[in-house]
Amino acid sequence: MMTIAMDGPAGAGKSTAAKLAAKELGIHYVDTGAMYRAIAYGILKAAPDEEALDDLVRGMDVRVEYIDNEQHVYVDGEDVMGVIRTPEVSAAASRYAALPVVREKLLGVQRTIAEEYDVVMDGRDIGTVVLPHAETKIFITADPAERARRRALELEMRTGEKQDVDAIEREIRERDYRDSHREIAPLKQADDAILLDTTHMSIEEVVAEVCRLAKEHHA
Ligand code: C5P
Repeated sequence: MMTIAMDGPAGAGKSTAAKLAAKELGIHYVDTGAMYRAIAYGILKAAPDEEALDDLVRGMDVRVEYIDNEQHVYVDGEDVMGVIRTPEVSAAASRYAALPVVREKLLGVQRTIAEEYDVVMDGRDIGTVVLPHAETKIFITADPAERARRRALELEMRTGEKQDVDAIEREIRERDYRDSHREIAPLKQADDAILLDTTHMSIEEVVAEVCRLAKEHHA
């Protein structure tokens, strides 16, 4: 199987690069962040008491499907792809991703997909926890200011509204701090991962490097 694990902080360009690399390599792009976002959305919607949270997550029906090579995540039958990219869900995803019950639930889902398909899987703990034997591990990063600039541009393109880059940089830094300081499966470069700093790289250069490494390791 071809397995490429791509980890790194928010806004480093992981998902864009992973998606394009998957297309070029003819394999599946698996977005694990979307799965954490989906559970966070389910929790926000149900607004449970603190004590009911674990049971709610355990009972949640989370399914992942690939339709025309696009990943769809369903929570209790609802396709949530259109509602999980808000700042509210981003912050909640990073908070709830620290809960053992949430990580346990998704670990099995993610490993099963990688057993079934050749994948480029992106996230925070793919090379360290989910797929420790991945053929290729890449840790993608970039300066926080550059990551905020890219994220603002992406949001402006999507919403047509001018964005506050400083506020986005603050949000990104907060999320990185939480993601890398939690107890379970923190954001961390695996010992055998290749570091790719994309601050001064174009997306085409990043994709070319990911594909080159994947082919080299798969040969
Ligand atoms: O990658 P994305 O920004 O969509 O991820 C949303 C949040 O989900 C992250 O901030 C992180 O807290 C969590 N996450 C995680 N482990 C992963 C992928 C995402 O904890 N493998």
